[in-house]
Amino acid sequence: MPEGPEIKQLADTLKAALEGKQVSRVFFAFEHLQAFRSKLQNRTITAISSRSKAILTQFDNGLTLYSHNQLYGRWVVLPQGEYPDSSRSLRLAIHTKDTMALLYSASEIELLQTAELNRHPYLKNLGPELLDEAIRPEDIIARFNEPRFHRRQLMGLLQDQHFIAGMGNYLCCEALHISHIHPTKRLADLSPSQRQKLAKNCLKLSRQSYQTGGITNQLKRAEALRKQGLDFEDYRFLVYRRAGLPCYQCGAEIIKGKYAGKMGYICPVCQPDT
Ligand SMILES: [Zn+2]
Repeated sequence: MPEGPEIKQLADTLKAALEGKQVSRVFFAFEHLQAFRSKLQNRTITAISSRSKAILTQFDNGLTLYSHNQLYGRWVVLPQGEYPDSSRSLRLAIHTKDTMALLYSASEIELLQTAELNRHPYLKNLGPELLDEAIRPEDIIARFNEPRFHRRQLMGLLQDQHFIAGMGNYLCCEALHISHIHPTKRLADLSPSQRQKLAKNCLKLSRQSYQTGGITNQLKRAEALRKQGLDFEDYRFLVYRRAGLPCYQCGAEIIKGKYAGKMGYICPVCQPDT
């Protein structure tokens, strides 16, 4: 499932293709959205952005298209008329004179009043956004210091978009590893300096992943491994999907396990559970 960095990159792709463009027509597969077809026709797309795992497409008539891809949803941007050979079901299409943005498969799609976005049940409960440029490390550290979040195991808490928005499974495993913290620990188990370090690493790895197209490994190391001929999937991570391979830090074997009900990867030496 795509995480914050992948969704933001997708929003960037859609933005480059559609922002400032006039919509020639819109297709909705869902019956309850048909009434919006005429409302969006000939309108201009004024902004496209991501919030956690949702994409927001704003139009110049005060409406915003909210889409959340769930597990299988997939956006494709193509030149006008060049439909892909796909067996997936088309849920939404935004057409401009020379481009089309197609959204396939299971997705939540809604039309909202831009002025009321913050009242949307998903958006209103999101924690601070790791990929929002206005968010500073102090904001994230302050969130980690709020006692109401201190009793949940980190494997679940860090992926809860209500706590902080933008992390899923791989970012969570990588941030815990680089911070030398076992995934079943709680914020209550950490010292103030460990909490601070974890908060900063969540921010740092999310932003690095966004900027590099998904690399959470140390960048110099990733580059060296790439030059040795390794595939992207084999050099991008520190521990994620590296079960059985040696930890870059200490050489111990990375293990895969279930922590707080979620699958994850750790180095048992760097991240002891005691
Ligand atoms: Zn290790």
